[in-house]
Amino acid sequence: MMHAEYNGKDLQGMVLRLEKSSVYDGEGFRTVVFLKGCPLRCQWCSTPESQSPEIETTQDGAITYGKMMTVEEVLVEVRKDSLFYFHSNGGMTVSGGEILAQPDFVLALLRRACFEVIDTCIETSLYADWKIVEPILDVVDSAFVDLKFVTEELHKKYTGISNRRILENLRKAGACNLGEKIIIRTPLIPGVNDSEEELEKIGRFVGGQAHIHHIQLLPYHRLGTDTYRKLGRPYLLADVEIPTPEHMEWCRSVVASSSGLHVM
Ligand code: SF4
Repeated sequence: MMHAEYNGKDLQGMVLRLEKSSVYDGEGFRTVVFLKGCPLRCQWCSTPESQSPEIETTQDGAITYGKMMTVEEVLVEVRKDSLFYFHSNGGMTVSGGEILAQPDFVLALLRRACFEVIDTCIETSLYADWKIVEPILDVVDSAFVDLKFVTEELHKKYTGISNRRILENLRKAGACNLGEKIIIRTPLIPGVNDSEEELEKIGRFVGGQAHIHHIQLLPYHRLGTDTYRKLGRPYLLADVEIPTPEHMEWCRSVVASSSGLHVM
């Protein structure tokens, strides 16, 4: 019997959805476990249905977001693609919402996946106490860390919270087991965080951390617009222009020259 009894298999978490065969969230083919609940309120958030930790239904009652699942129930789904992981160096990625908002569930899920030799990756803002962050970083194979601003005032204005804890956790992350397997993801929002000054700050901060593998700049998009409408919530950045490829290249060059890192 492969799956012996293990601690935490009955722990429940609020799952938004599972996505199979993703190639954007880590190495190889991945099963991405999207969790529900996030303490941030980024004005550009393209997944507003992931923010509340509660089950939500669209105004017309047609779609329900969120489902309680046990660690074992998630892993039953994840294991189904083991062959794909083996042939592509893929595995399981846990994303949000914010995964650190459900630390016990996430830790149990990651530990069990590691025990079953399933590659593990997380996507997180690192917004949590270090005592929550550290054991999770110690168990994963790689991590995407979303860094939206370095300027605290801008972070507060556009996400609702200070970024002090995030920057501090990113500095400390270098001491964890995953070594240089941290990738920074910065959503590029025109008129919000794409000034030369802010991009240089981001580049200098990230370049000053020895444990960052590379940086990804992700262009702003409006894919969440319809979901805001269905949930009856305002989309504050609905009028922001999509950045052109030329502007993205300029932003990448600014971050690359100020960080000394490869920027995608
Ligand atoms: S951290 Fe991610 S999930 Fe949370 S509000 Fe910001 S964009 Fe949305």
